[in-house]
Amino acid sequence: MPLKSTSRLWLPISFLVLFGILATAPRSPAQDREKILRAGASVVDITPRTYPVSSNGGMSDRSVGKAHDPLNARGLVLDNGSVRIAIVVVDSCMIPRDIIDAARERASNSTGIPAGNMLVSATHAHSAVTVGGVFQSEPEAAYREFLKERIAHSIVEAASRLEAARVGWAVGNNARQVFNRRWFMRPGYRYVDPFDAGTDRVRMNPPPGSSQLLAPAGPIDPEVPVLSVQSRDGRPLALLANYSLHYVGGVAPGGLSADYFGEFARQIAQRVRAGEADPPFVGIMSNGTSADINNINFFEPGVRRQPFEQIRRVAADVADSAHHAYRRIEYHDWVHLASRQAEIELGVRLPDRNDLERARKILADAGPGPYRERRAIYARETVLLADYPARVPVRLQAIRIGDLGIVSTPCETFVETGIAIKKESPLRPTFVIELANGYNGYLPTVRQHSLGGYETWRARSSYLAVEAEAKVRGTLLRLLHDVAGN
Ligand SMILES: [Zn+2]
Repeated sequence: MPLKSTSRLWLPISFLVLFGILATAPRSPAQDREKILRAGASVVDITPRTYPVSSNGGMSDRSVGKAHDPLNARGLVLDNGSVRIAIVVVDSCMIPRDIIDAARERASNSTGIPAGNMLVSATHAHSAVTVGGVFQSEPEAAYREFLKERIAHSIVEAASRLEAARVGWAVGNNARQVFNRRWFMRPGYRYVDPFDAGTDRVRMNPPPGSSQLLAPAGPIDPEVPVLSVQSRDGRPLALLANYSLHYVGGVAPGGLSADYFGEFARQIAQRVRAGEADPPFVGIMSNGTSADINNINFFEPGVRRQPFEQIRRVAADVADSAHHAYRRIEYHDWVHLASRQAEIELGVRLPDRNDLERARKILADAGPGPYRERRAIYARETVLLADYPARVPVRLQAIRIGDLGIVSTPCETFVETGIAIKKESPLRPTFVIELANGYNGYLPTVRQHSLGGYETWRARSSYLAVEAEAKVRGTLLRLLHDVAGN
């Protein structure tokens, strides 16, 4: 019968065709899902063993003799059977690229995770140890070596704890703890800058509740994105959160502190009822895009608090918001993982001959430092910046965890940049981790550059060319499209 002979012929051909397709086609989602998602997390103590140490975060150096609370590197490794990624968040103000490169290389040699699949960021606590020269703080050489080893160890330890896991994400909201710190002042207000340029049109950190305040010069980002990692049976392993808040401060003088980042980790462990698990649950708070965002409510006069009290209050409130999101997370037993990094060259706002002449004269008049006066502090920065190259490499990265996108910048990134990336990203949700994989100072938008103010004042903490932000944002969006297509 014709029908039967046709089907007899068709069967072997269809088998061959199908087999041929399967042999050459990329892996199907069904095949990938036969693989197991595994995760591991670690907390590695990076509190200095010897004192005194230099602590940066202000224009003057601070010598400190103790730690109020421990500093840590908090690591998370995810492995979906094809791709492994590592994320480490370190209690540091900013970490220069050579430290991170050394740590990534060591960890890569031990674990086999490609260095380019590792994201290492600083929380931006302003009460940690100086590891890069900024303003009048000089790096602690011995601690820099210690930090390289400990960051590498945080990845190696997390990788050694890989177990079958599930992941999920959600976005919480907290507009109560974030305030834009750049303000337009009332007509007639006299803005002061350390270059005597007289061109500023905004002021950073004006007195709270002042009658001179007109309006903030930018928005806030209230989002609290949360990535939850659990064992297959629902035991909390790690929670990575992100919030666009510079830091809180209010630590007693003379002590190191992990600021609200460390306190958040302790408080979220209680919220998710992590208990005394071994290995321990690891809470992680990463910094979002907070160059122009802090915890000072400028709309009302300031309130006096006990040391560490405000840190505890903010951590509790943000942990509540993260936990609110956590409770509605839907988990995935397997997800796509991808990581891409790119390096772009960006111009440097080098001082010209007149800038240098003025700076040298100011320093000659001021005598040897340390300096208290801003004109002298910035004159010193001008002289130091004259040795910078005309262009610097800037490393950017995008990571995909299922439909969640994470991008990183090595800059103190403005909140507008984060909001724009979230809006245009092909992945939902997306968040930005700033001060990652290196340190290249503030990244104001073109508009914020035109307004001037502290974050734009040329120093080793703010030197990228005016057009840098658009290039960084464009590259990050391209990287997000790359990982989204994987
Ligand atoms: Zn800062």
